[in-house]
Amino acid sequence: MKAERILQSQGFGSRKECRAIIRAGLFSVGGEVTEDPFVELSAEGLDFEVDGVAWRYREKAYLMLHKPGDYECSHKPQHHPSIFALLPPELVRRDVQCVGRLDHDTTGLLLLSDDGQFIHYWSSGKKRIPKTYEIVVRHPVSDEMVAMLLDGVQLHDEPAPIRAAACERKGELALSMTVTEGKYHQVKRMISAAGNRVEALHRSKVGGLELPQDLEAGQWRWLTETDLDSLS
Ligand code: URA
Repeated sequence: MKAERILQSQGFGSRKECRAIIRAGLFSVGGEVTEDPFVELSAEGLDFEVDGVAWRYREKAYLMLHKPGDYECSHKPQHHPSIFALLPPELVRRDVQCVGRLDHDTTGLLLLSDDGQFIHYWSSGKKRIPKTYEIVVRHPVSDEMVAMLLDGVQLHDEPAPIRAAACERKGELALSMTVTEGKYHQVKRMISAAGNRVEALHRSKVGGLELPQDLEAGQWRWLTETDLDSLS
């Protein structure tokens, strides 16, 4: 496949933009810069760099979105705009889906893909993927509350108490908590079972992947090889 087509297929822009990236000397394979946009390369499994960032050619799309508040993780939103309105139409046409859902008022790291296996794996409660949330609560965070969350709280409709994998007080009304289950409204329900109430919820990390500081609310970007490696 021609180099410009490879970049285009991986979401680096229009053919013209990809050609410009290559001609600017920003595209390299095996450490060698290739300034010819028409050079033929074997796409399958190709490792390449764009402006010093490592990528691997993939048939499927893997991306992250900094979800803003008041957006729904649904193609058929009820009361707020859909997060899919924040993605380019080509990606929506490719049928990318959310890897798990965040509530409409939750902000932060949301993964999306059109790879069914990837979505299944990273959203499965059984895999016990750690997800970290930064939480602002209504009433002061007490040591007892943190201890309760770490020991396990009983949620309605759950057979056994659910415990936080990690929980730390971050301020009078702030805490950080890591959970591994992915149950419906899990964080809000756990905080409520511990006698408090969530005022703001932000997901900062999934697996080992942190929401980058420079990705603003409403922005998305492709997952790099480093991102995909740090997920697991
Ligand atoms: N837990 C919640 O309660 N809401 C979310 O959006 C995510 C986790």
